Amino acid sequence: SGINFDNYDDIPTEATGNDVPDEITEFTSPPLNELLLENIRLAHFTRPTPVQKYSIPIVAAGRDLMACAQTGSGKTGGFLFPILSECFDKGPAPTPKADDGPYSGPKVTYPTGLILAPTRELATQIYDEARKFCYRSWVKPCVVYGGANIETQIRNINQGCGLLVATPGRLIDMIERGSINLANIKYLVLDEADRMLDMGFEPQIRNIVENSDMPGCENRQTLMFSATFPEDIQQLAHDFLKDYIFCTIGRVGS
Ligand code: ADP
Ligand code: MG
Repeated sequence: SGINFDNYDDIPTEATGNDVPDEITEFTSPPLNELLLENIRLAHFTRPTPVQKYSIPIVAAGRDLMACAQTGSGKTGGFLFPILSECFDKGPAPTPKADDGPYSGPKVTYPTGLILAPTRELATQIYDEARKFCYRSWVKPCVVYGGANIETQIRNINQGCGLLVATPGRLIDMIERGSINLANIKYLVLDEADRMLDMGFEPQIRNIVENSDMPGCENRQTLMFSATFPEDIQQLAHDFLKDYIFCTIGRVGS
């Protein structure tokens, strides 16, 4: 599979919702940050793919998004580019007040962006892309997943972590240990949402979303990406997304 990069403009696309922003046709500033554009050029990405044309202005406008597009259509850039762009523009968030006083417990990390993926392989792929596009920026991406030493991963995120890529089970372990707090989350991405549900991660996903819904984290933007749009995904979109834009690229199964 994967999209044919020569036939971009023939792919049927649809975006529905209130006040849908116009799609972009090129990688430009605005809406994208100049440093990010340099990193996009270094990666030899010359034009946005269809899902990127839609998702970049939608996310840049602060909107929630449910996007359905097949594997290989460029969904990773679709969420990474607008998120990193705004992170680069804004700089690091201050550490939450609750953490200012004398405190001798374990170090707590407050990521700004959280991307959930179903497997170690997919999480690692997203992390590798994130590292490439974060080159020379303040944003340090980290990745955590099960089946690897948790202490090593905690030491790594304790060095600072603006953008965290995680599988659901390992992230919950770290939240329960007090190593990660989601109170600063500004962007929450559920990538391959249909696969996460197929793998039985729905309770973990709901737990994580509740953790990033606690008082103080009201300004979260939520993005869901999926290859298919079955009923259980429609229900999650209904439960997690606010005034969202629904975008389909190509033919999407249910
Ligand atoms: P998906 O998540 O939809 O399966 P990916 O984000 O993994 O797709 O992208 C598939 C491939 O296309 C990757 O190798 C990626 O580097 C490449 N790619 C993504 N966007 C672009 C672009 N705008 N120009 C060129 N290559 C791209
Ligand atoms: Mg993907």
